[in-house]
Amino acid sequence: MARIVVKFGGTSVATVERIRQAARHVKREVDAGHEVAVVVSAMSGKTNELVDWVNEASPLHDAREYDAVVASGEQVTAGLMAIVLSEMGIQSRSFAGWQVPIQTNDAHGAARITEIDPTELDKRLSDGWVPVITGFQGISPHGRITTLGRGGSDTSAVAVAAAVKADRCDIYTDVDGVYTTDPRIVSKAQRLTKISFEEMLEMASLGAKVLMIRSVEMAMAYKVRLLVRSSFDDPDAPQVAPDGSPGVPGTLVCDEDEIMEKQIVSGVTLAKAEAKITLRDVKDNPGVAAEIFGTLADQGIIVDMIVQNVADDGATTDITLTVPDREYDKAIKTIKDAGDRIEYARISGSKGGAKVSVVGVGMRSHAGVASSMFKALADKGINIQLITTSEIKTSVLIDEQYAELAVRALHTYYGLDKKGV
Ligand code: ASP
Ligand code: MG
Repeated sequence: MARIVVKFGGTSVATVERIRQAARHVKREVDAGHEVAVVVSAMSGKTNELVDWVNEASPLHDAREYDAVVASGEQVTAGLMAIVLSEMGIQSRSFAGWQVPIQTNDAHGAARITEIDPTELDKRLSDGWVPVITGFQGISPHGRITTLGRGGSDTSAVAVAAAVKADRCDIYTDVDGVYTTDPRIVSKAQRLTKISFEEMLEMASLGAKVLMIRSVEMAMAYKVRLLVRSSFDDPDAPQVAPDGSPGVPGTLVCDEDEIMEKQIVSGVTLAKAEAKITLRDVKDNPGVAAEIFGTLADQGIIVDMIVQNVADDGATTDITLTVPDREYDKAIKTIKDAGDRIEYARISGSKGGAKVSVVGVGMRSHAGVASSMFKALADKGINIQLITTSEIKTSVLIDEQYAELAVRALHTYYGLDKKGV
């Protein structure tokens, strides 16, 4: 017997019919003898509608009232899910955030969970009940309803799973797992059976569509194993793993130690619309980089890649950085406006870059991943403009027009293509 928290996203609870289908997944787990707690999102589109209503009422509204309105979508689905489960003969009760309670700070609209009291949930679970908990919301120290920021119900689910010490947190969504790359770019992309928390974080550009990043950070911190799977699967079909072995379908996001066969490269990611900016002959003094990046940060500009050269003459250096295309003009202006605080000879740059990365925990123990990546790109005649690395990721900036070609080439090169397609 296991204790499982299952979370259903908006498309999985979009209609009462969909809620019924989701409930059948819950029933299967209950029938198998597991203790199950459910966390739900609002019906898809509902939260947007609620946000629009708030803005229509007044663009200058109080954030506490925004939360009071916007949190209501999850209450509807929690109640409906409990009704549908009860109708199936499963004892079920809904819980709003404050009823658990899920304590948060008072950053309305972007609150952080501070504590979840597991007492009531523990009791319900051991008594054979299925508690259905509203995702996305909690209660502030002042006793007001808070929301966690858009997409926050994944985080709620992981937090609940950590609080009740669940064996697993199943995230039901409209895709059947995490893929080696975007299947729209590479038709031979494969669903991963397992991926480590760290890889999942590095693959944010793929993962963000599947899981909110904060929920992965929390899962990693509390070692909550996540199973990403589709609620559109037949709930009564035999449960098999993606590789055909008995188990469960989907992608398991887990600790690296749980992954026996470590791939050197697990995935290839792509981020388009990256602009690069180069500052030439920057005065090479302590504090220069702090000044440049501090000025950009003050303007809320998020910098991605950074490369600084060793100063030849010991007096000046070159610094290149990338920002999203849409921030390009603002970033250039911000640096120019900094005037004397940043001394450099010239500034130049261009939009329309693409960052292509290969990610894999196997890189820690294998030499030569970077060089083989550069070789694979060279074979396709693709020029590399910038390179950055982390322990488990190597990224290059290239011209956007070669982005898809590069992703396909690397996917094939690292043996990630699905066989027989
Ligand atoms: N319903 C909320 C939203 O749309 C939370 C979620 O779906 O995760 O942002
Ligand atoms: Mg969502």
